[in-house]
Amino acid sequence: MKLHTTQVVIDANNTQKSLPLKLDIITKDLSLENSVAYCPLINAHDHLVGNWYPKAGKDHPYPNSHIWVEDMKVSESFLERNIYWFNDGSFDLLVPEAHTLARLGAYKSLFSGCSAVQDHGPNQPPRYYREMPINVIEAYRQCHSITLGNWWGGESPEKEMELSGGKMPFIIHLGEGTDDVTKQEFAELEKRGLLRENTLLIHGIAFTKEEIARIAEAKASVCWCQNSNDYLIGKTFDIDAALKLGVNVVIGTDSTMSGGINLIAELQEIHEKYPHIPQSQLFRMVTENSAKALYLPEDYGKLNPDRCRNLLVLDRIKEDPFANILELDALSIKLLIVEDIPRFGDREIFDYFPKTEHEYTFFEIAGREKFVIGDPLAINEEIDAALGYHKDFPFLPF
Ligand SMILES: [Zn+2]
Repeated sequence: MKLHTTQVVIDANNTQKSLPLKLDIITKDLSLENSVAYCPLINAHDHLVGNWYPKAGKDHPYPNSHIWVEDMKVSESFLERNIYWFNDGSFDLLVPEAHTLARLGAYKSLFSGCSAVQDHGPNQPPRYYREMPINVIEAYRQCHSITLGNWWGGESPEKEMELSGGKMPFIIHLGEGTDDVTKQEFAELEKRGLLRENTLLIHGIAFTKEEIARIAEAKASVCWCQNSNDYLIGKTFDIDAALKLGVNVVIGTDSTMSGGINLIAELQEIHEKYPHIPQSQLFRMVTENSAKALYLPEDYGKLNPDRCRNLLVLDRIKEDPFANILELDALSIKLLIVEDIPRFGDREIFDYFPKTEHEYTFFEIAGREKFVIGDPLAINEEIDAALGYHKDFPFLPF
């Protein structure tokens, strides 16, 4: 069946008026007034269990993030999270409370229009990824950082790279600081043979222009976490050099213990601070570039009108569809579909979808009824019950 919207964004270079989209999962044709269709966004860096609030660490900015990690562990935010889930250091995230927290973190990305999120941490068993409201990417290898190694679990970085087989991303925090410790990390990475096409470097605050040129040459990717960098370190990645040199730059939120509220808040802040970067280019970073860096199927990076498995439909608030992305909030999402499963949207179109085995919850935002897959309200209530008071997470729209 077909979906009609006012405007369709195929990718950052191709927008069209009134192009019908073929959706296998609707049972009758659907027309959405005053709407724009996009490929959903991708959050390229987060730590799902770390989405507690507010930010941790009173002595920021730090010369490097490794100092922050220690400071974070005695922060009020971290200690409050301990009441609900105490991280015993095993990083077994199938412990019910950890898994619930991770799901809560995934909802942060769902409510900001994402199809997928990269959850940087030790690889978990399949069930962890299966029971998530959006695609929490399962195929990856990783290391925490060159300086601290895989303290949280996983093999040596060389072994992890080998296990990637060059067919999935190898993800590592690198150059997250301004001191000598972080400045030498890039050279160490290269020396150990870890700068390859499937390498996704997180942060890169300490990278020099020459190093950024080496990254471009290797066709590797860099994830820019502007808000988190600014808060923790007081400096960010040299984005202008990277764009000039043609590096595959993607954008991530990091967790709310160091980063912004969600991916849209991240984009809004970037647009404010770097108005010379076209909004269409920002859109490319959170779609096509991320799909490439994370080795996702093509329809995670571009809308496929002939077989629309992944789809984001927004209210049309701004005429320019890329400016319209910055207006996105949970209220303005008419529909989010990931891999043929409706995940979130307006209640009034819910009946266009046939019955599924998935469970949904209904709630209101500013008088507009919404459906969402799973039950994020119950997660919030479970946390409230453990704490004995109401905990407000600013990325949840209720
Ligand atoms: Zn991180």
